[in-house]
Amino acid sequence: LQRLTRRREDAPPAPGAARAFRELPGQRDMELIREAAGALGLENPFFRPHEGIAGARSVIGGREVINFGSYNYLGLNGDARVVAAAQAAIARHGVSASASRMVSGERPVHAALEAAIAAHYGVDAALAFVSGHATNVTVIGHLMGPRDLILHDAAIHNSCAEGVRLSGARRIAFAHNDWRAAERELAAARGAARRALIVVEGHYSMDGDIPDLARFVEIARRHDAWLMVDEAHGLGVLGATGRGIHEQCGVDPREVDIWMGTLSKTLSACGGYIAGNADLIAWLRHSAPGFVYSVGLAPGLAAAALESLRILHAEPWRVARLQANATLFLRLVRDAGFDAGSSAGFAIVPVILGSSIGAARLSQALFERGINVQPILHPAVPESSARLRFFLSADHREDELRATVAALRARS
Ligand code: PMP
Repeated sequence: LQRLTRRREDAPPAPGAARAFRELPGQRDMELIREAAGALGLENPFFRPHEGIAGARSVIGGREVINFGSYNYLGLNGDARVVAAAQAAIARHGVSASASRMVSGERPVHAALEAAIAAHYGVDAALAFVSGHATNVTVIGHLMGPRDLILHDAAIHNSCAEGVRLSGARRIAFAHNDWRAAERELAAARGAARRALIVVEGHYSMDGDIPDLARFVEIARRHDAWLMVDEAHGLGVLGATGRGIHEQCGVDPREVDIWMGTLSKTLSACGGYIAGNADLIAWLRHSAPGFVYSVGLAPGLAAAALESLRILHAEPWRVARLQANATLFLRLVRDAGFDAGSSAGFAIVPVILGSSIGAARLSQALFERGINVQPILHPAVPESSARLRFFLSADHREDELRATVAALRARS
């Protein structure tokens, strides 16, 4: 598949093709993948509508399946208290904030959510954005500039990579989770740069592994760099009570300069946040383009995220259940002889197959047996690490996990 889709996108367009949308980069790849999948009798596993709440179980095509495709880590999307909080905010304010917060879009629930997020990390302040992806793009893109240096883990999410590109800063990717390589690169390049930023994730979404946060804190301090941690998949997942990577690694959260997270995963809403020092947050609130020139976070979503955060703190048994499920699932997968890579077994378990077609086939076979798990294919990952990616939930039952591994075994 890699060979089929490899193609030079930098060639000048054929005469008359400069306005052809079909000639845009990636269009041919999509066609080739569709044709190859059709020839192999594979259905498109993407854009399948879920007909109800996508939790540990979901209804797709009128049929209930065991669902490993959603980020509903603690089972809070659909929780009656979260739904009621969103409904109350909508009844009071309507669905939209109807303006940028700086002008007329500010609602009391915004400040309440931000205070709760800041308290979660024990830092001065926080700011909520309308999208997690947009948070990384606008904050990294705005904070850093062409005279600066950004070092990031090679496995960093697309939203960070886009922010880095927008910033125009010098960019160095270090080998995944390799803090020694990060320090070597930083030591060599720091002198020429005005400011430096290290970006890591708390819990990597493709591999389900985690960084050595204490090491990154040390390195950042030693080289006068900021440390930013994307906790999209860490909040509610890592640490004994789900507080995140700082709890997992025993690091004071105030040692991290910029906490970033999303409202779309454990907090079962939609949006993003930054938490940290008061000066940083005040500056972003008044100048980050993706905040100032975008509508305020919808009140219903802010209220849902706030209630989810309250439940995360009040019901740590959910975190324990999620972690127990992931630990069991990882053990079963490995005992069955599958390659789960470097997964740390908190909520994300890949099954690495090394072939996009193999991954698509296995995903379809499982779907036919009532199990929904997304394949991750080239070019999202190198062909050699094409995989199925399982997102675990606190609500999965042990019999479902065992049945899933039995189905994997039967079909691989
Ligand atoms: N950061 C990471 C690590 C992510 O995995 C994602 C999305 N999956 C985002 C940021 C973007 O968040 P959102 O989907 O809430 O926009």
